[in-house]
Amino acid sequence: MENINLSHSRADTFCGRQIYYRDVEKKVWVENYYTAMGHICEAGVNAELQNRMSGVEGRGIAEEMQKVMEDLLPKIPKEDERNSVRQDFPPAIISVEKYIATIDYTPLRVQEYFNFHMDGHDEKEHPVKGCVDIVAERNGHPLIIDLKRKKAPIKRDNYGYRMQVALYSLWLMQARNLDSIPSTEIHILLSGKDPQVWNVGVTVEDMYEAVYRLRDLGWRLSNNYFPMARGHILCSPKWCNFWDQCHIDNFDGLNDLISNIKP
Ligand code: SF4
Repeated sequence: MENINLSHSRADTFCGRQIYYRDVEKKVWVENYYTAMGHICEAGVNAELQNRMSGVEGRGIAEEMQKVMEDLLPKIPKEDERNSVRQDFPPAIISVEKYIATIDYTPLRVQEYFNFHMDGHDEKEHPVKGCVDIVAERNGHPLIIDLKRKKAPIKRDNYGYRMQVALYSLWLMQARNLDSIPSTEIHILLSGKDPQVWNVGVTVEDMYEAVYRLRDLGWRLSNNYFPMARGHILCSPKWCNFWDQCHIDNFDGLNDLISNIKP
């Protein structure tokens, strides 16, 4: 098996068997309404930030979002989801415009990719790869921002988001030789409304846990351990692209089950 990267999204995947289908069997994970709307909104914000960084108003917000939508629509297999994307496009533009109006930081990099080894340069070790939405500065202090798009504001701390920006903080501290933990914020674009800013306030313990999760994922990949998450709320035909495949592959008839039982 090729050396699969460690990443926040892989470590955060609730079902090990999904990782198997996606990364070992290389089955395509199709776009859906949620992934498409996220990409569309991100394109609008990125266009504005690129304009600010370059000092040239070269990229139109709505045009960039429209381009991404047109690219993604044919990749969404379900018609009702394609219709929802079209329907939610105008409020998505409003949410991006409202976000842009609130920007109080200086963007330094958008979509910055990183790649490092956690435990030295052991060739057997899975490399850690990821992409930070926005690396910025506010009042001279480093700031990491992750963009999300939601229909309603979040009401409580989200562990997955915390682990995500904790990993990014660790990388930024090493890459930029920082001596204190950068500020970490989740910026949530809300359909047609003002954005929500969630200040995560990453701690050293969060960074330890983020590393621990990746080490745990590395062990699972090295040992071909891909447990199913049947019974999880997201284990359903609606949310899992591999539902049919998984139910065909992972089943023994009653005779087999009984014959394997020994007193
Ligand atoms: S059907 Fe359930 S167990 Fe199987 S891959 Fe999907 S989420 Fe995992």
